[in-house]
Amino acid sequence: MLDVGHKRPEPPNPGDDFTSLKTNQKDPVEYFLGRKFEALILPGHEPEYYGFPPSKEYVFTKPGNFLYRANGFSPLVSFAAGGLAEAWTGGCYPFQERELIGFPFPYKDLAPWYSEVARRIGIAGTQDDLAKFMPLHDGLMEPLDLDEHSAVLLAAYEKRKQQLNEKFGCFLGRSRVAVLSRDLGNRKRCDYLGRCLWGCPSDALYTPSVTLEECRRHPNFEYQDNTYVSHFRYDSGGRITRLVATSLDTGQTHEIEVGRVVLAAGTLSSAKIFLESIYRDSGESLQLRGLMDNRQVLAPFVNLKLIGRRYEPKRYQYHQIALTIAAADPIESVHGLVTTLKTALIHPIVPGIPFDLGTGVYWFRNMRAALGLVNVNFSDHRRDENYLALEADPASAQTRLLVNYRPDSSEAARIREATRTLQKVLWKLGCLAPSAMMHIRPMGASVHYAGTIPMSADSATLTCTRSCQSRDFENLYFVDGTTFPVLPAKNLTFTLMANAVRVAEEAF
Ligand SMILES: Cc1cc2nc3c(=O)[nH]c(=O)nc-3n(C[C@H](O)[C@H](O)[C@H](O)COP(=O)(O)OP(=O)(O)OC[C@H]3O[C@@H](n4cnc5c(N)ncnc54)[C@H](O)[C@@H]3O)c2cc1C
Ligand code: SF4
Repeated sequence: MLDVGHKRPEPPNPGDDFTSLKTNQKDPVEYFLGRKFEALILPGHEPEYYGFPPSKEYVFTKPGNFLYRANGFSPLVSFAAGGLAEAWTGGCYPFQERELIGFPFPYKDLAPWYSEVARRIGIAGTQDDLAKFMPLHDGLMEPLDLDEHSAVLLAAYEKRKQQLNEKFGCFLGRSRVAVLSRDLGNRKRCDYLGRCLWGCPSDALYTPSVTLEECRRHPNFEYQDNTYVSHFRYDSGGRITRLVATSLDTGQTHEIEVGRVVLAAGTLSSAKIFLESIYRDSGESLQLRGLMDNRQVLAPFVNLKLIGRRYEPKRYQYHQIALTIAAADPIESVHGLVTTLKTALIHPIVPGIPFDLGTGVYWFRNMRAALGLVNVNFSDHRRDENYLALEADPASAQTRLLVNYRPDSSEAARIREATRTLQKVLWKLGCLAPSAMMHIRPMGASVHYAGTIPMSADSATLTCTRSCQSRDFENLYFVDGTTFPVLPAKNLTFTLMANAVRVAEEAF
């Protein structure tokens, strides 16, 4: 495996919970805000409600070799050992039969691999009202202990369930999360330290570097990090013969002979390698059409019953419940993750409160236990106007990736309808979600990129087979979002993982 592979710094004081981490460290300010206060979110920022802490900087650091320009899209790429999911929130959604429309295989061909991945990485969840939108599979662990606010929301749902289901098509239940509720191998179960955002010190919250470490213990696995792959070379029969890579330690470029190549660099970076290879060989500049991402809307809310209550910091920090607003066609349903506020840095939130600092902090302390956020996902479909291409970078002799995205004309109406329903649902649950605080995140912010060389039953260039084998290069496979023909309103990583295992079993 060739990888840039930036490494995670060791988490400090592994036994500390969030509160003691603030007092027990030599320099807590540096840990939480950065040496140069680079993690501070100042007034006037885009209302993103939280920023990435300094301990996650390694996830988003880019080597100088990767250049891009984007229109209508805010791309995030990672060159970390483990990739973007070193910073994920662990939400695991299996797709349903109908959501695999366009995939050249039925749900039953993917189902065993959801179970296999769940057994390997550990996913906590249960059978509840959401099971009809998130099919059940084997390998689920019992859910984590609920935080108080999530428990209040679920109790309110149980009381009004019939009305919420029938009038609004809304269903609530436990989110499925890649977090251990019991020990698995060397990894210990979650002990509710409340520091998930800064990096789980016990690996109870799964990240792909856990699997990478497992692979590295295997005698047949060789891992070469600090290596940036720019392109591949191929022969006249369309067979890849060598990879061209640059060592980020020495700056030297070398070529590596290959038998089969599996690209798993993330949809954007895999596209850059693919396009660059064709451009270097033939001078041809192709477009990879059909780029997809989930539009996300953040809807903050206040639970009126919890104003003035105390919050308990020793809780799992991310979402514990999820909701679905069902549509007639499941692929158009809207799915959201509900995060109640527990441990957090308060500075991104307090400046938005329309009082002076002292009053703002007082208000926040009384409101904290009552605050929450729904992160709503919308589906996307492949459209020709959304594409990836290469262009010359005027500042260097290199090429850069061009990312072009334009939402479809029905998007604004879909968002309006779903957010109105969500506000009514939250009101029925005893919560106020002010319209003025809703935030439509820029396209690209969900980091669920997919669709540029889709799996297809029809043989055509710039597509791949059901085994994710390229139809342009016979010994090339993709195991990231590149091959997805459609993107339901669900976080896609669990399906990326299940599909990668399916490909490994089917093609190798
Ligand atoms: C804050 C955040 C929260 C998220 N939460 C969720 C969630 O709850 N649920 C969910 O399903 N998804 C979530 N995601 C999305 C999830 O992280 C991605 O879908 C997933 O990481 C994609 O995996 P990937 O392996 O395809 O690519 P990546 O994660 O992008 O990994 C790419 C890998 O390839 C390597 N690489 C790239 N280019 C090169 C090159 N040229 N040469 C050598 N190596 C290279 C990189 O070093 C990296 O290891 C979240 C993402 C973020 C940022
Ligand atoms: S998952 Fe979060 S709450 Fe659980 S042990 Fe890790 S940091 Fe603590």
